[in-house]
Amino acid sequence: MEHVVIIGNGISGVTLARHIRKLSNKKITIISAETEYFFSRTALMYVYMGHMTFEHTKPYEDWFWKKNRIELKQAYVTSVNTASKTLHFSEGNTITYDKLVIATGSKPNKFGWPGQDLDGVQGLYSKQDLDRLEQNAPNNEVCKRAVVVGGGLIGIELVEMLNSRNIPVTFLVRESSFWNSVLPEGESEMINRHIKSHGIDLRLSSNLKEIKSDTNGHVSAVIIEETGEELACDLVGLTAGVTPNIDFLKDSEIETGKGVKVNRFLETNIKDVYAIGDCAEQQETVGNRRPIEAVWYTGRMMGETLAQTLCGNKMPYNPGHWFNSAKFMDIEYQTYGWVFNEKGQPDYEQHFHWKHKDDDKCITIAYRKDNNAFLGINTFGIRMKHDVFDKWLTEHRTLDYVISHLKNANFDPEFYSQYDDQIKAAYSNTLQTA
Ligand SMILES: Cc1cc2nc3c(=O)[nH]c(=O)nc-3n(C[C@H](O)[C@H](O)[C@H](O)COP(=O)(O)OP(=O)(O)OC[C@H]3O[C@@H](n4cnc5c(N)ncnc54)[C@H](O)[C@@H]3O)c2cc1C
Repeated sequence: MEHVVIIGNGISGVTLARHIRKLSNKKITIISAETEYFFSRTALMYVYMGHMTFEHTKPYEDWFWKKNRIELKQAYVTSVNTASKTLHFSEGNTITYDKLVIATGSKPNKFGWPGQDLDGVQGLYSKQDLDRLEQNAPNNEVCKRAVVVGGGLIGIELVEMLNSRNIPVTFLVRESSFWNSVLPEGESEMINRHIKSHGIDLRLSSNLKEIKSDTNGHVSAVIIEETGEELACDLVGLTAGVTPNIDFLKDSEIETGKGVKVNRFLETNIKDVYAIGDCAEQQETVGNRRPIEAVWYTGRMMGETLAQTLCGNKMPYNPGHWFNSAKFMDIEYQTYGWVFNEKGQPDYEQHFHWKHKDDDKCITIAYRKDNNAFLGINTFGIRMKHDVFDKWLTEHRTLDYVISHLKNANFDPEFYSQYDDQIKAAYSNTLQTA
C-alpha cells in the first residue's frame, strides 16, 4: 500500500490527510514536532485572552485520527534523503515514504538583533510561544511593560493580547503608518488612531536597534534605532513577519528559494515530493498573489487540491479571487479582490473611500478609471459576505452596481441600512465633484 508521509500537522497537512482518506485507502502518516494533535493557530490569541481553552482550539476529537487510520508521529525531521526516500529524525531513527509532502509552515523572522535570543524575547507562532507568553507575561506585575516589534497582522494580535491583561505596550512599527505596505493611507491612519485610543504607545517609523539584558540573561530594555531612546521592558515580542520553516531541507536535493519551490500542481523538482501551505513558493505567481501565501484558507485549498492529485485526479492549484480578513483590536477588516495602496496602485486603478464620522468604520472600493469595473473592496468595521463579492468579481460588475447593491453584500442588512444612505450620498457627491 502506498505510504504518504506529511511533515507538518497544520491546516494544510491535515486537510490533505483528511481528503486523501476520503478518496483512498493509502497509508497516511503526519509528523509534527510541535503538538500531537492539530489545533487552530489563528485561535491562539483567544486562549491567552481567556475566551477559550487550548483544548477548544482542536477542531477534531483525539480519537478522530485513529478512527480514520491517520497515523500521528510527534518528532522533528532533521533531514530528507530523496534518493532513498528516507526521513531522519532528531532522535536518530528514520521513516521511509512513497510520496512526501512538506507542509512545515513558517517561523517568525529574526534579523540578527543584538539580544534577540535573551529570555523574555519571543515570537507568536507556536503552542510553545503561547506557553512562553503565559510565563513571560502572566500579568502586569511580572511584566511591567512589553515591547512588540513589527506592525503586521500578528504584531497587532500580540498587542491586543497583552493589552487584555492590562500590560502597558509599546508598539514599534518600522513603517510611517500602521501596515501601510498594504493598506491605503486613509485606512492605515484610522487604525493608527484606533491603536492609540486603546492606550498603546504606538511608535511609527521606529526600528529596533538592540535588546539589552539584565544580569540573569533576561531582557531588561530595548534601544530604538532612530532616537537612541532606551525603553525598560520585561518582554519583547518579535513579530516582524514570518518565513518558510525549511532549514532542515538545506542539504537535500529539493529546490528552495525563500520557500520550497513548486509548480501549479504543488510538485517540487523531485519526483514524489510536494509542498503545500505557508512553506510553498509558487514558481509562477497566480495572478496578483504573492509567490508565498502565509494565510489559512490557501493552506486548506492547497491541501484539498493536492489530495486530488495524489489520488489520481491531477489538479492545479487555483485559488480564485483573493480575499483575506483580520482584526485590528476592535475593528474587523475584510478584503476581496485587489485594493492597492498608493505606492502599489497601478495607473488604471482609482478608489472610492468612505469613512464614518465615529472613525471606526470605512470602506475603500477600487475600480478601473476607464470603464468603472469593480476591482476590489476593503471594509473596516462592517462585516460583508464573501460569496457576494466573489460573484461580483467573477461577473465583472461596475462600481455603480456595487454601490447600489452593497446592502445585499452585508451580513446584517438591518444594521447596515444606517450606513447605506451615507455611502450612497458620499458616492453621488464624488460623482458631482469628479
Ligand atoms: C498568531 C497567528 C494568527 C494568525 N491569524 C491568521 C488569520 O486570522 N487568518 C489567516 O488567514 N491566517 C492567520 N495566520 C496564519 C495561518 O495560521 C498560517 O497561514 C497557517 O497556520 C499555516 O498553515 P500550514 O499548514 O502551512 O503550517 P503550520 O500551521 O505552521 O504547521 C506546520 C507544522 O509543521 C511543524 N514542523 C515544521 N518543521 C518541522 C520538522 N522539520 N519536523 C517536524 N515538524 C515540523 C511545525 O512545528 C508546525 O506544527 C495566523 C498565524 C499566527 C501565528
